[in-house]
Amino acid sequence: MLERSLPVTVAPIKGECLKSFLHRSASVYGVSANRLLEHCFGVRGQGGTSSATHPVDRLTVQLDLEALKKLSESLRISKSDLSGMTLKAQFPSIGARSVAQTAAGKNPETKEETSNEQLQFGWCPLCLIEDRAEGGHHFLRLEWSLASSTICQLHQRPLIGRCQTCYHFVPSPDYALYRDQMALICPHCHTPLDGRLGYDFVADTHAHDWNADSVLHTAWNMIAKYEQFFLNVVKGRAGRSKGQRILSEFSALLDLLLQAESPNHLRPIDMFNSTYFPSITKLGFATRHLQHPFHVCHLVERRKALAIAISILEDASNVFGFENGATPLHRIRELMSRHYSYNRLERHILNIARLALPT
Ligand SMILES: [Zn+2]
Ligand SMILES: [Zn+2]
Repeated sequence: MLERSLPVTVAPIKGECLKSFLHRSASVYGVSANRLLEHCFGVRGQGGTSSATHPVDRLTVQLDLEALKKLSESLRISKSDLSGMTLKAQFPSIGARSVAQTAAGKNPETKEETSNEQLQFGWCPLCLIEDRAEGGHHFLRLEWSLASSTICQLHQRPLIGRCQTCYHFVPSPDYALYRDQMALICPHCHTPLDGRLGYDFVADTHAHDWNADSVLHTAWNMIAKYEQFFLNVVKGRAGRSKGQRILSEFSALLDLLLQAESPNHLRPIDMFNSTYFPSITKLGFATRHLQHPFHVCHLVERRKALAIAISILEDASNVFGFENGATPLHRIRELMSRHYSYNRLERHILNIARLALPT
């Protein structure tokens, strides 16, 4: 029988998620992360390409004791280092709704649309550039898979989810060795994800202008401030703190802006087409009918929904480029006036204002 302990020990990087660590470890042996798991767990033929669940993603959310023991023995990494790379360990009060997922799919048996379990990781190209410039490896940060994280706190710049070379959506990047450094690469065109700077759904020339636009940077900073607040909330223990109440009011508000429950109506976020927060055609269809769409939307849509919410709460539509005079709330009321959900939307806004805005 094969010895399960593996000869090469890969050192975890501070802030790295388990998924990234497993992929890096697997690429040392030239196998997939699923194949590595099969070895560690002593099973074959599970978690293959036809499997509907994503075991690596599931373990990245939470490790049970048995998985922890087996991975620790095989990879020769302490249990605390391993569990420290899971979302549950770093963000104890995280709920299913706080974890960003790639897409929704229809269950062929029940015909019900549910979110698939694949984690969605945006990435900050500047973080990746620095990883390699400092002689290290690329790695995915845990917080990049949170539904409420769409901006890099370090660089105050939007995370991206599409390869900027071939523009394919990259739900799960591959790893490749460049000399002795591991790089995250696009699975479609095999270019490193830090190869080209840009922004999702923004043309090159616009992206260039964006780098110098102080109004846009103000908007990003405002969003980052809220997202930092949400990060601090999920880092705390589960309970009913004021921060947790604010976060849950926000999630409900953003769900309504994304309007999952009435699939034939225009979604409120699609009404706002600012140059800074463009509408993405079609993507929204993936999440219609879902009860809680916030976490399964593309991160551009999540960022836009948050931008609209903040512009209402802070009365700052000018900062976000949402046009002239009419506040977003007026337009949303017009759009939603015939639906009972407008009352709910207004109630969430009042509740947040009452609880206090993130500062
Ligand atoms: Zn960054
Ligand atoms: Zn690509």
